[in-house]
Amino acid sequence: MKVSLIRCMQTEDMCPATTCFKVMKEKKLAFEGIAEDIEVIGVNTCGGCPGKKAVTRAAEMAKRGADTIVFASCIFKGTPIGFPCPHAQIIKDAIARKLGDTVKIIDYTH
Ligand code: SF4
Repeated sequence: MKVSLIRCMQTEDMCPATTCFKVMKEKKLAFEGIAEDIEVIGVNTCGGCPGKKAVTRAAEMAKRGADTIVFASCIFKGTPIGFPCPHAQIIKDAIARKLGDTVKIIDYTH
């Protein structure tokens, strides 16, 4: 699995994505049961509210080999302060429309 991690730009100040990387490395939570190796192709943010740049950033990651777009937990779950992104579903839908079946999308890491 070749992963592109997309995270909330507003969360950068308070979270270095430690747990996102840990669960990928240890194949836990969202990555439980994945048999193949997990390689992180790249990490980027949504580009800031309202997250439109996430679409072209995800496309660039796919061009560079990502087969799976993973949203860091800050986006859908609001980790670590319990403040989910109000645009999360719109961002996900836009990425899905742009990339179609070429990538799998995972809503959160942990
Ligand atoms: S659009 Fe959502 S994910 Fe991006 S910075 Fe704003 S709150 Fe965070």
